[in-house]
Amino acid sequence: MAKQPAIFLDRDGVINEDGNYVGCVDDFHFIEGSIEAMQAFKKAGWLVVVVTNQSGIARGVFSEADFLALTEWMDWSLVDRGVTLDGIYYCPHHPDYGGEDYQQVCDCRKPNPGMFMQAAEELDIDLEQSWMVGDKESDLLAAKRAGVQHRLLVRSGEAISSSTEELAEQVIANLAAASEIILAK
Ligand SMILES: [Mg+2]
Ligand SMILES: [Zn+2]
Repeated sequence: MAKQPAIFLDRDGVINEDGNYVGCVDDFHFIEGSIEAMQAFKKAGWLVVVVTNQSGIARGVFSEADFLALTEWMDWSLVDRGVTLDGIYYCPHHPDYGGEDYQQVCDCRKPNPGMFMQAAEELDIDLEQSWMVGDKESDLLAAKRAGVQHRLLVRSGEAISSSTEELAEQVIANLAAASEIILAK
């Protein structure tokens, strides 16, 4: 079978409100329109893959087990709404924190492209034809390094530098706006 393109999504600030290290269900709030956008992607036949830095694990803000429990809840909440995610990749590491389990300079922490490369390998993704939707420079840079040509930047409230803007095809309000752009192509 031919390689398929995917829509890669950052989690915090794109799917859910970025509450500064979201580690439990009570702190996880879907951004308005994000579930509907993912429904539309799936309906149109796209692979949808989450790629998320979770240094809260290395920093000891929450445990990897907490993260996995929240992820399971998120995944099932989405399945209930007709969205079956094709992959969820996360980096638990940090170069400066985390002790022997998590402190490392890894390939997976964005802006490194490791999570994209792993997803491409496991899901047979055509990276060049894929999209990345993120809210930080590191999201777009990681995607660029992986060879993902289409990159959208969501305004989640943080200031956007010109170098970040240059990495993006467009700067948009949210994932709902991203779906309009991607599905119009
Ligand atoms: Mg983010
Ligand atoms: Zn990592």
